[in-house]
Amino acid sequence: MKKDDCIFCKIANGEVPSKTLFEDEDFRVILDLGPAAKGHALILPKEHAKDIYELSQETASKVFVLAKKMAARMVEKLHCDGFNVVQNNGEIAGQTVAHFHIHLIPRYQDDGQAIHWIPGTPSQEELEAVRKLIVE
Ligand code: 5GP
Ligand code: ZN
Repeated sequence: MKKDDCIFCKIANGEVPSKTLFEDEDFRVILDLGPAAKGHALILPKEHAKDIYELSQETASKVFVLAKKMAARMVEKLHCDGFNVVQNNGEIAGQTVAHFHIHLIPRYQDDGQAIHWIPGTPSQEELEAVRKLIVE
């Protein structure tokens, strides 16, 4: 299902033009309008899902296969030095468009970009408490 007021639904389904790198019945891959680096692209499912939690199992099972295919092609064509695959869920995590998407970000020596966090220093006990919280 498409969502009427969703810009990525409109782009994914071809109602709004985009610089398209790939399209099939489930996905459109487009160049990001505000790229972190040359070739920064977004994988958009054609079916609306707000985020990873809403994503159907079927789409989830296909999307990383496509990410791998696109990454291989982009590395070959762009001769980048590295590659980030990023996917944000929720405002606090940096999601600004409420339609699931995967960022494909070619990285270059001296591109000046950073995908960054400050590593914590948990004890073994703290790690174990978190492990239990998740698995139990
Ligand atoms: P998020 O922050 O939600 O993970 O990523 C949203 C991304 O979509 C941003 O990198 C932003 O530059 C890109 N973006 C937002 N609106 C448009 C648009 O209309 N067209 C394209 N091609 N990219 C967009
Ligand atoms: Zn949408």
